[in-house]
This record gives sequence, C-alpha cells and structure tokens, in this order.
Amino acid sequence: MKALVLKQPNEMVLQEVPNPTPKQNEVLVKVLRVGVCGTDLHAYGGNQPFFSYPRIVGHELAVQVVEIPKEARKYASHVKEGDIVAVLPYLHCGKCIACRMGKTNCCIELQCLGVHTDGGMREYFTIQPKYLVPAGKVSVEDLALVECFSIGFHGVRRSEVKPEENVLVVGAGPIGIGVIHGLKERRARVIVLDVNEKRLEYARRVAKADVTIHAGKEAVEQRLLELTGGEYPTLVMDATGNAKQMMESFNFVSQGGRVVFVGLVTADITFSDPLFHRKEITLYASRNATIEDFKNVISALESRRVSTEGFVTHTASLEEAVHQFPLWRKPETGVIKAVVKVG
Ligand SMILES: [Zn+2]
Ligand SMILES: [Zn+2]
Repeated sequence: MKALVLKQPNEMVLQEVPNPTPKQNEVLVKVLRVGVCGTDLHAYGGNQPFFSYPRIVGHELAVQVVEIPKEARKYASHVKEGDIVAVLPYLHCGKCIACRMGKTNCCIELQCLGVHTDGGMREYFTIQPKYLVPAGKVSVEDLALVECFSIGFHGVRRSEVKPEENVLVVGAGPIGIGVIHGLKERRARVIVLDVNEKRLEYARRVAKADVTIHAGKEAVEQRLLELTGGEYPTLVMDATGNAKQMMESFNFVSQGGRVVFVGLVTADITFSDPLFHRKEITLYASRNATIEDFKNVISALESRRVSTEGFVTHTASLEEAVHQFPLWRKPETGVIKAVVKVG
C-alpha cells in the first residue's frame, strides 16, 4: 500500500509499504479522508517541538472499518465492518491518574497518531476499536473535521459557559472556529477578535458569531466595554497560541471571570498577580479532546446546527499532497483547512 512519509523536515515522499495486519485487540481500517492541521505543517517545516522523523503524519481522520478480527469483536460492539467512523487520535493508557479521572486527553503516556506515532496519511492502518467513533449521518467530508472542531468543543466544555454569557474568542483560525461553534451550541453571546477580516467574516456568516472586532482597526478594550455594559466578557477563550495575545486575556476578562487557553505556545506565559487576584480570575488549559467531545461535534454536524460551509479550502490526493504540502504552509495560498482524499 501507499504511505506519505515525512522523512525529515521539508522532505515528504510517497512510499510503498507493507499492508498492516491487526493485532488481537485491533481492527483494520481504510483511510478515506485526512485533514491537515497546523501541527502537520509545522512538522513539515521542522518547527514542531517533540516531533521525531521519519513519521507518517495525519490525525484528523475519516476511515472505514475493513476487518474486525474475531478476538477484537468483544471490544468492538459499537462498530461493524463497512462502517465509516471518526478516529480519536489520542492513544491513552487507561490506567494513569489522568485516565482514571476520565481525562484521557492528557494521559501521562499520551501518544497522538501522526505526531508521536504514525498517523493516517496511508491507505490502511490498525487501531484498537475503542478509538473509533460512529459517524451517524455525518458525511465523509465533514467527518474529517470532527477532530479539529472537538478541540474547541473541549475547551468550551471545560469553561462551563452559560446561555447568554458574553464570551470573547481571540483568534478565528480553524481552532477558533471550532470554539465559536461550541459556544453557539451552548447559546453563548460570542464576540470574536482577529486581525484578518476574511476570518472575521467567516466567523460571523458561517459560525454565527454575534459580533466581531478587528484588532488592527478598532480600539479593542473600548469595544469590549461597549459590548458588555462596561463589564468585560466573563469568559475569554484564546485560540491564537500567541504568547502576547494569551497574556492580554487577563486584561480582557471581567471581575470574577474565566480564561481558557485552547491554543498552546512553546513559551512562558506571565501575568500580574495583583490583576489576577483583584479579578479572581480562573485560568484553564485545554488540551486535545475526549470521546465525549467527538460525540458532541458529530451530533452538532448531524443536526446541521454546525455548518462546515467553505471551511475546507484545499483538497488533494496522496500523490498530489507530496507537492501541495509545502504550498499549504504559505499564507498566500489562503488555506483555512486542507484535506487529503486517500480512499
Ligand atoms: Zn490537529
Ligand atoms: Zn493514561
């Protein structure tokens, strides 16, 4: 079978590799679609920390169940051969302190497909059935977006947002759009901040953000005060992964408010303790997602409460991806989300 192997930074090749055979507790799946994430593009460019080469990237997956060996059936009652499913790419031990709390998204031994272990840019792979999430009525195209949106839904679930609550989302890239969708599912009033008018327009038109603020053109703090009766939003969700922006969140949140860092950055975040204490801010990190978040996204897509219109801007086959990958790293190509069609 064919596999797209990232041999080292800036060198991706399409290789012929042996077909995988499932172990006793695994099933064989055929890859249909793989979403391309910022992580994959950073890995391509060699600026993804903790990344080892060679690696088959790809963790945003829509796959079809091909074979469930007899021994794996007792773990696979939720899927059958032929089913099209999403894949939770966060392999977890099930035993550590985080897993025992149900926080499999931050397992001590967490291995993400396509990052710490080989992912989906190949025709087939094997996986334990517990990672497969039934697609319901969601199309194959939309299924490849479930992981991306789940990241936002997870942060929203952690925030315990209430209906009508004023929420500021900073950053309207793919992760930010998932955050906005998650907030609208919970009927929050969503204010979005970004410097890119195209992204703001998408946030309003498709993700149904209530208000947007153009950071380069408007006085942000003043606008926030106007929009919240002089009180600031009670919840700020950062989806920029930009240290400076993340630190600004402490200024943008109300007294007694919450800040959620969905985006992450390889840097130190510092803040004024008097400000932190005066406002009695609650700060949350949000990492990856769990099966519950995947199910919530699938249900939102199934009922069409969440629209994916125009989210995928680029598609390619495995063969074409070899040449397209370097281009998707360039902002001028206008990529929001690229998807590789495998099978
Ligand atoms: Zn991703
Ligand atoms: Zn664990």
